[in-house]
Amino acid sequence: MSLVEELKAILGSDRVHSHPLELLVYNKDAGVTTGAVAAAVLPETTQEVAACVRTARRHGVPVVARGAGTGLAGGAVPTEPALLVVLTRMNQVWDLDGTTAWIGPGVLNLDLSRHTADKGLHYAPDPSSQAACTIGGNVATNAGGPHCLAEGTTVAHILGMEMVTADGDVVHLGGQSPDPIGLDLRGVVVGSEGTLGIVTKVLVKLTENPPAVRTLLLTFETIRDAAATVSATIASGIVPAALEMMDQPMVIAVEAFTRGGLPVDAAAVLIAEVVGLDAGVAAEAATIERIAVEQGATSVKVAADEEERALLWKARKNAFGAVAQAAPDYYLHDTVVPRTRLVEVMAKIYEIGDTHGIKMLNVFHAGDGNLHPLVAYDAREPGMAEKVRAAAEEMVRISVAAGGSLTGEHGVGLEKRDLMTLVFDPVDLDAQARLREAFDPDGVLNPGKILPRGSRCYDYGMAVLSEGEE
Ligand SMILES: Cc1cc2nc3c(=O)[nH]c(=O)nc-3n(C[C@H](O)[C@H](O)[C@H](O)COP(=O)(O)OP(=O)(O)OC[C@H]3O[C@@H](n4cnc5c(N)ncnc54)[C@H](O)[C@@H]3O)c2cc1C
Repeated sequence: MSLVEELKAILGSDRVHSHPLELLVYNKDAGVTTGAVAAAVLPETTQEVAACVRTARRHGVPVVARGAGTGLAGGAVPTEPALLVVLTRMNQVWDLDGTTAWIGPGVLNLDLSRHTADKGLHYAPDPSSQAACTIGGNVATNAGGPHCLAEGTTVAHILGMEMVTADGDVVHLGGQSPDPIGLDLRGVVVGSEGTLGIVTKVLVKLTENPPAVRTLLLTFETIRDAAATVSATIASGIVPAALEMMDQPMVIAVEAFTRGGLPVDAAAVLIAEVVGLDAGVAAEAATIERIAVEQGATSVKVAADEEERALLWKARKNAFGAVAQAAPDYYLHDTVVPRTRLVEVMAKIYEIGDTHGIKMLNVFHAGDGNLHPLVAYDAREPGMAEKVRAAAEEMVRISVAAGGSLTGEHGVGLEKRDLMTLVFDPVDLDAQARLREAFDPDGVLNPGKILPRGSRCYDYGMAVLSEGEE
């Protein structure tokens, strides 16, 4: 039997897609790269995932896990014709027990918090794509979000998982215990972008809703003043729940879309949120206001009620969608720099945009130093896609040179794979490649991702060994 016939025998015809037109839906994520899909399957149980992996293996076809396909680094885009295992139908929530729950990898991030709202709980990591992305995708990319500044990224909220290995076996990693015995393979799998296994169940930690929340909108005449407010706030000892920046081009695009009353004449705005007990929240909000004014804020507005707060977050979380009005395509960058270098790196990023003649809008998790310069462009314009990619690489290089890193939260995937050598030397890459081989010696799972070709020491002709070593 062919691969597709065997898969249909396991799942039934309606959950196996192999027609080229159907596969068009699956050959890219929210980034700009396209790939080749041999077939896409929609399993509903762990046993079905395991059977699909074993079948693909027998046919010599690699396997790529896919959640909602909102990834921006090409993580779910196969580099060679692969079986795409789409986890969106595995969206059950089980065993909601106190502040933990076992959930399927296909549960949408925002749905989890909706599901737990009546218990006064939420799932803290909140990527801006939270209405669409899956928890499985969040685990695989170690997703961040505006509220990860104080709460930490996904890895701090995942206690355990069930995973199908490259052999089609089912393993359990981590668990309820706060200090599990043995090697922390849970921590290794979070952020591994589908290269170590396919996550089929996740044990998540839920966070109690804070008794009080205060959200401020701070307006500035220069990016420098806004960035200085970010640094001074953190230096004062306050770690806000969120501290997000938007520059003027982004504010203009967002305001035209959400009409929430953002100041379109400001050079930059900050959204700062503090949470906790009433008295502490009031004191922290007052300190942030004082710092902002000292740094040159031209206005400080506190959201008067939940409706006004929701409007501010609607603006922030719809920023990328709003850009669709400016141009048909966008390329969203993701680097991270030390907060103290924000102003200088931002200036260089605007320079790169000017040099390449591209339109740049900025919205980012300023508190983390996580930059998201967004290039709005028309891919049909000859040479434009190449220009955008060249600018992207320059932005990564200046971020790394400033002491930052390749990616703040979107992952390495295909997009940054060949830039990994900017931050890791051959010995580091060799260690990562060997870990990956321990999970998947034949390179069945998501081949061609994260690690550049030649990541094993022997690929470097042993150049890493010093003279005289063998
Ligand atoms: C508008 C917009 C805003 C965004 N904002 C943020 C943000 O604030 N923070 C942030 O971190 N990201 C953000 N992203 C990026 C993206 O949403 C995240 O990376 C998200 O975690 C991807 O989830 P997904 O379900 O779409 O995964 P996919 O794109 O389908 O897959 C992403 C990676 O995870 C792997 N994978 C998926 N499911 C599994 C599984 N069950 N087991 C093993 N591997 C798996 C895939 O192989 C791939 O490598 C944004 C994207 C968009 C389009």
